[in-house]
Amino acid sequence: MFPSSLFPPGTRIDGSGHLVIGGCDAVALAAELGTPLYVFDEAALRGRCAEYRREFANRYPDSHVVYAAKAYINRALARLFAEEGLGLDAVSGGELAIAHSVGFPMEHVYFHGNNKSRRELELALEWGVGRIVVDNLHELSLLEGVASAAGARQKVLLRISPGVDPHTHAHVATGGAQSKFGLPLAQAGVAAERAMASPAIELVGLHFHIGSQLFDLSPYREAIDVVLGLAAEMRAERGLALVELSTGGGLAISYCEDAPAPSVAQFAEVITSGLIAGCQQRGLERPRLIVEPGRSITGPAGVALYTVGAIKEVPGGRRYVAVDGGMADNIRPALYGARYQALVANRASSEPRERVWIAGRYCEEGDILIEDIELPAVAPGDTIAMPGAGAYCLSLASNYNASPRPAVVLVRDGQARVMRRRESYDDIMDCDIM
Ligand code: PLP
Repeated sequence: MFPSSLFPPGTRIDGSGHLVIGGCDAVALAAELGTPLYVFDEAALRGRCAEYRREFANRYPDSHVVYAAKAYINRALARLFAEEGLGLDAVSGGELAIAHSVGFPMEHVYFHGNNKSRRELELALEWGVGRIVVDNLHELSLLEGVASAAGARQKVLLRISPGVDPHTHAHVATGGAQSKFGLPLAQAGVAAERAMASPAIELVGLHFHIGSQLFDLSPYREAIDVVLGLAAEMRAERGLALVELSTGGGLAISYCEDAPAPSVAQFAEVITSGLIAGCQQRGLERPRLIVEPGRSITGPAGVALYTVGAIKEVPGGRRYVAVDGGMADNIRPALYGARYQALVANRASSEPRERVWIAGRYCEEGDILIEDIELPAVAPGDTIAMPGAGAYCLSLASNYNASPRPAVVLVRDGQARVMRRRESYDDIMDCDIM
């Protein structure tokens, strides 16, 4: 009954029916720290980092795992990823600043984004970012100017949109021919020529990221094929050696038991076998391989806790269970129609008794976290636990309805450490000028 595969490994139900994550009683955490509360299991995070490192290195020794910070980052997690030997994919000055502030090895940072500002590029150079992943021709000119002025020679990758359909939600499909991200194949040659002609730029390779929450891994093979074809052309026409190839992130996670995701091993197998075969076929030297998982590292390690408030029964219709969070801390259901499972953390071993809709507390009719789920009889004050909440929830969170954003806690071996305190009303008003 207990959907253990959706929770961090080792999550269990104790004798009193309470959910226990990382050795900590989830109900006690909610009572002590308030809700909504985001709980990250440290062992699950580190375990996933190790799994990624191992599965790729075993198949392709010259590989590096780079965590995509957009999935969720804070300063404590940036430090944890540095300890785990991962690099960081950052897409904004803010994410760069978090990394820099904790002494993250900046040479292992990949700076992405489809509209980087001059100031962000200057900061990236000043802080010694390892690679800038150039997204478009405008950025290339901007970077040339910034790097020349700094007297630098910046290593870059070119982001290519390979024109591959990743079979995922349109909002997270990023590698299609009409995507706002990356250089269309037709512009890649011009970009490479300009980059190679510039003394301020060292072109070391190519990047693609075809989309996120991908269950079907075959589009990776297609994209690798397209991009290696381009690399072979660039070598033949311009003498460019592909030193590095980044295949982005995108591996799906399982949010519901009826939608199991591929394993990291399966993902690694598809990418590395495709790359090895593609290089052999074209007589290309094998490049260094970069992978950029986000969701599949933090997603399964995070659990959101909410407290039940109002319960409303529409005569002859739905039964709503309203919780004290919703679209301001997790906009995925409203934005993508994302599906989740949940359980009642203080009665986790009770049998399901009723079908309910878990509603958020925010002023949008669409603020529904879960449509139609079977739960034990729910009462005000109960704690709801939603697994799979570690990625693209807090990073997309807002202060909608002037709501303070949740606290975030890291649990391990029965110890809980707050990584980010709950925002206060003062935090919300702090930037206002009267
Ligand atoms: N790399 C790039 C360039 C991305 O845009 C993204 C996400 O959109 C990722 C990596 C991480 O993707 P995911 O979280 O699906 O692994």
